[in-house]
Amino acid sequence: MHSNLIDGIWRNSQTALRNDNPSDLDDVVGEYASGSPDDMREAVAAARAAFPAWSRTTPQQRSDILDTAGSEILARRQVLGTLLAREEGKTLPEAIGEVTRAGQIFKFFAGEALRMQGELMDSVRPGVEVLVSREPVGVVGLITPWNFPIAIPAWKTAPALAFGNTVVLKPAELVPGSAWALADILQRAGLPAGVFNLVMGSGHVLGPAMLDAGIDALSFTGSQRTGQSLAKACAVRGIKVQLEMGGKNPLVVADDADLEQAVECALNGAFYATGQRCTASSRLIVCNSIHDAFVTRLAERTAALRVGHALAVESQIGPVASEAQLANNLSHVAGGQAEGARLVYGGERLKRTTRGYYQAPALFADCTPDMRLCREEIFGPVAAVLRAESYEHALALANDTPYGLAAGLCTRSLARATHFRRHAEAGMVMVNLPTAGVDYHVPFGGRKTSSHGPREQGRYAIEFYTTVKTAYLGS
Ligand code: NAD
Repeated sequence: MHSNLIDGIWRNSQTALRNDNPSDLDDVVGEYASGSPDDMREAVAAARAAFPAWSRTTPQQRSDILDTAGSEILARRQVLGTLLAREEGKTLPEAIGEVTRAGQIFKFFAGEALRMQGELMDSVRPGVEVLVSREPVGVVGLITPWNFPIAIPAWKTAPALAFGNTVVLKPAELVPGSAWALADILQRAGLPAGVFNLVMGSGHVLGPAMLDAGIDALSFTGSQRTGQSLAKACAVRGIKVQLEMGGKNPLVVADDADLEQAVECALNGAFYATGQRCTASSRLIVCNSIHDAFVTRLAERTAALRVGHALAVESQIGPVASEAQLANNLSHVAGGQAEGARLVYGGERLKRTTRGYYQAPALFADCTPDMRLCREEIFGPVAAVLRAESYEHALALANDTPYGLAAGLCTRSLARATHFRRHAEAGMVMVNLPTAGVDYHVPFGGRKTSSHGPREQGRYAIEFYTTVKTAYLGS
């Protein structure tokens, strides 16, 4: 069994999680400890005990450990990518890309540890100086989803450690392998006992135990339902909280768009990584004059996508990550047809030589904004095309959602690109690019119900992982 890491010691638990390969259900990736509330309490206590010394380490000490971890992740990207592809189902190039990003994130925050700064200014009172400095928040709980098994743990853990916090990570039940590998790397990179703790297992059991054990801050990525309930629980306990949740991201195709480029953006944004990205383009909003040509061409390209085993070189789309997610996707496909949307291509379960959760990417047309297909996050390879009368109509449709994570526009007009950048109600805007696929050195996050609290990643990560102190210094 792969154990939990608590206070620098690998500890087994009474029960285990079986990590299955969604490309091949006969391939068991491994057995992973399933922690108890007591394990979580001990992990939080260990992080609490380790905090005073860790928060007083020099930036150089923290930077060196993060840099060592980043180097190992990058050096082992092939092996770690294979593990990730086996447990989550994204294709090997996608998985290696994700691992690479995780390594780069650790390198970036190795630099950020050295760049933590404050401000010194004169007071409005004579002879008094004001010093504004940043301090770590304390013990940070991290709860992560299954769709980016190493990148999301990395983009929360690296800034937390860089700025002097101690950490308890609770990864998604479906993908403990990549988080375990990250814990192993951090442990060997030289972190003192208790600074980073890993407790794998059920969110329903470990989430409440984590909050009750007395963390200072919680960074969560996952579904809206879980995020909103955690935010309430944090509010009553005075825990600082940051939430990254779902999306129903629009890609607007203006009538002056380059058809092939727009189709490429839609194909990539909607179906790559099996549509299991919070930034996936699930609503394709297409202006009248280009609509029919776009749907015809996108249907041809979708039909040509090769769905298969995540490790097979010819695969472009891996399996759906779990049986429950596949059942959810299939029910949305049936629901879309029942609502009157036109299924142009795909949607059905596929058989391959190995037993896995394969699904043909689904393309719907003739959708209306009130359909569930256009309102609810599906989190699978299902895209809905909406017809717009004009660019202005398309923008209104794009903003007609409670979500606000990413929004894209395909156009040849700079004026429209500028207008869209200003008026799209989303945290991230992409022009002539897929809505999914972001950089690690700039802020990531959304508006409306997609996100809550400060942005993640890049220099902006410091807002969540530190607290500001204002000191008045008289003479
Ligand atoms: P989920 O909410 O079911 O689970 C996320 C994590 O929360 C898991 O670790 C789970 O064990 C834990 N959890 C579940 N119940 C809990 C509870 N009661 N208390 C504490 N923790 C609990 O989400 P998921 O199915 O793993 O992930 C898919 C969702 O994540 C999608 O909605 C997707 O949009 C979202 N997501 C968002 C982003 C983003 O940055 N915006 C990125 C990736 C995924």
